[in-house]
Amino acid sequence: RLHRVAVGAPAARFMSTHVTNAACEDHEPGFLGSVETFFDRAAKISGVSEKSLTGIKVVDSVLSVKFPVEIDPDTHIIIEGYRAQHSRHRLPCKGGIRFSDEVDLQEVEALASLMTYKCAVVDVPFGGAKGGVKLNPKKFTPAQLERITRRYTMELCQKNFIGPGVDVPAPDVGTGPREMSWIMDTYRQFNPQDVNAAGCVTGKPVSQGGVRGRNEATGLGVYYGVREFLQFPEVQKMSGLTAEIAGKTVIVQGFGNVGYWAAKFFHNNGAKIIGIGEHDVAAYDPNGLDVEAIFKHRLEKGTFRGFGNAQIIEDPIKIMERECDILIPAALERQIGLKNVKNIKAKLIGEAANGPITPAAHDYLVSQGKVVIPDLLLNAGGVTVSYFEWLKNLSHVRFGRMSRKWEEAGKNKLLTLVEENAGRQLTPQERRAVIHGAEEHELVYSGLEDTMIGACEETR
Ligand code: GLU
Repeated sequence: RLHRVAVGAPAARFMSTHVTNAACEDHEPGFLGSVETFFDRAAKISGVSEKSLTGIKVVDSVLSVKFPVEIDPDTHIIIEGYRAQHSRHRLPCKGGIRFSDEVDLQEVEALASLMTYKCAVVDVPFGGAKGGVKLNPKKFTPAQLERITRRYTMELCQKNFIGPGVDVPAPDVGTGPREMSWIMDTYRQFNPQDVNAAGCVTGKPVSQGGVRGRNEATGLGVYYGVREFLQFPEVQKMSGLTAEIAGKTVIVQGFGNVGYWAAKFFHNNGAKIIGIGEHDVAAYDPNGLDVEAIFKHRLEKGTFRGFGNAQIIEDPIKIMERECDILIPAALERQIGLKNVKNIKAKLIGEAANGPITPAAHDYLVSQGKVVIPDLLLNAGGVTVSYFEWLKNLSHVRFGRMSRKWEEAGKNKLLTLVEENAGRQLTPQERRAVIHGAEEHELVYSGLEDTMIGACEETR
């Protein structure tokens, strides 16, 4: 078993670990190298002293573990897990936990670094961290995933890499509220005296101390960010796009939590979703895809194949090369590199994933007059709402009770509306659910919108 807590980061950070990447040339830096290249560029114009910059850039501390997990009574497998804390300048550190085959230390370090800068951009007072477990969650049963998640959390507990004031994980690729509730429960068992235990992880189910709106927050933030950027005359001039979302053609790469919600908010606000890419195939329809319908189809059939009139693109990464106004890469890092950047036709590219564009590809896009909205800002909605969840857990309150917006009059009006729609009187239980839901939504959504718009305006 390997346990390493190191200051600094490993050598060979510029070597790509993703050698078979379809988007990037071999000479392009790996993910961590890309993040550092962007950092160095920003550092030059930041006005911050060289000494501080050197301290900010490095990953503070990494945990690397291997542990056995019983898959069935006859089989044990060894699982690799990581957690990187990039900055402990502001505590706790914050960032998701990823379950994916591609996870390695370099990826987790790169993602942890991005978390620090992301939190700084939206002024959420956390340092950056990220965790990863190297596995494909689709290949395991829920019971096996639970054992793996709990065991990984035990490692985090033992090595002080989790806690409401130390390091607070959240969902990322391949994880969701279910995994977060396993993490909280395991943490509780190790820390029975911690009255703030619920704040050791965010993105929990609402019934377990989560907040309404966390699931859709990243996608909604992506939508708000693009909507706000389109208001800038400079952006309109550069891209040739008009200010409104309605009528714009949008392609989304990735239909996980972030891609799904982003697509849904663009669609609900009048944009036309003409392409969606997943890891097996992509679906394309110039007349627009019905986001909810294609989501349900994929859930039932496991694929986009056979969905309405949609054209199926066998090589899914190619969906990003179709003509459109707005391209939203919402899958993984390094999806647009020197191999495919010349084929990108979108006028505005919004980075919903972390690090989807390499530095050289970014330069090329900008040289072509395209607008790139960076991940640090655009996908910060998730961690922003995580902050509200963490505050709620530490304050031991329900958000609804703090909100002054939902005075008696407002509540009665809402209840009348819902009853009119339902065509019947609500039961006392239903009435309570409507009020509580509305209270929490209102506060989280207005907080998220204010934060995202504030952050967009700061970039002016
Ligand atoms: N995994 C998300 C991200 O990349 C959310 C992190 C969080 O909520 O802490 O931003």
